[in-house]
Amino acid sequence: MSTFTSELVGWYVSVARDLPWRENKDPYRIWISEIMLQQTQVDTVIPYYHRFLGFFPTVHALAEAPTEQVLKAWEGPGYYSRARNLQRAAQEVVALYDGAMPADPVALKALPGIGDYTTGAIASIAFELPVAAVDGNVLRVVSRLAAWDADITKPAAKIAISRWVEDRFPERGFRGDFTQALMELGATVCTPTNPGCERCPVATHCQALAEGRVRELPVRSAKAKPRIETTLVAVIWDGDRVLIQRRPDTGLLAGMWEFPSVVPVPGDASEATLSLALGEFGLQVSLRAPLAAVQHTFTHIKMTYEAYTGRLVSGALIPTDARRWETLDGLAALPFSKAQHKLIAVIRDRTLLSAL
Ligand code: SF4
Repeated sequence: MSTFTSELVGWYVSVARDLPWRENKDPYRIWISEIMLQQTQVDTVIPYYHRFLGFFPTVHALAEAPTEQVLKAWEGPGYYSRARNLQRAAQEVVALYDGAMPADPVALKALPGIGDYTTGAIASIAFELPVAAVDGNVLRVVSRLAAWDADITKPAAKIAISRWVEDRFPERGFRGDFTQALMELGATVCTPTNPGCERCPVATHCQALAEGRVRELPVRSAKAKPRIETTLVAVIWDGDRVLIQRRPDTGLLAGMWEFPSVVPVPGDASEATLSLALGEFGLQVSLRAPLAAVQHTFTHIKMTYEAYTGRLVSGALIPTDARRWETLDGLAALPFSKAQHKLIAVIRDRTLLSAL
């Protein structure tokens, strides 16, 4: 083991935070935590992690659950395609490997939703294989340690940094610690804006520090700004029930429930566009004034949901697994996105107010 590696691993072992997915080396638990940590901070992940494992404690339980239940259990972390991929991957693990996660990076990477980073994390932490797990933290840390000028948003930088990490892997028994040590260093010491070089356990190995270039690194090209979009939403009542539909099984927020919605037609009044869209339900409705506007930012889209409320005038809806009337209380059992939850909160408030 090189001095760099032994100093880093030694530091990690002495300071490692007590996190639930570090209790053992169960690859299933490590996999779930890594997918959740890709989108949310550690403190936020912990309760979601416990809740998700409470519902699905094993690969078999996840593989066999109704998809809607998996999406519901995933509410909170967001990026629902990850939950769908988790379940698809669990089904493959059951079908191909009898429910045991494969201790093989190629087989891991072939599973839905498992990319290079997650492969490296599971392979090194659960199976002690010398496979790098390079996320944003590791890209930043290594680009500083090696004083690397390459743009870390480019695939070439990721490949080079993976090699750099793999060249420094220790012997079996310490590889999981090494992977987690690099992550921990990035999360707690070598942070993006204010790195704590004075307390860094590998400062003597840091080229950027030696060259006085810590603030210049990493090099990163500017992110594209998210597109601005609007979606019109119809909150239609029939007595105390509201009209909902399930999104298609592919695309953004696949399989989640929502209020009927449509992208506005430029130049047309919002109410006219919504009425036209609602025609496909075979219902005649009367739309009233706007209810609320709710904003939500996806990775590439800054979305404003403009909601209108209305009432059923005539027509009958035959309920299916993709559309139905539901009470406000009944919505709680179904998976909705964060933006739709914001709308539900507004509707609840208005309903309470009108009942006063
Ligand atoms: Fe990061 Fe500073 Fe440590 Fe270098 S010395 S790895 S810049 S915290």
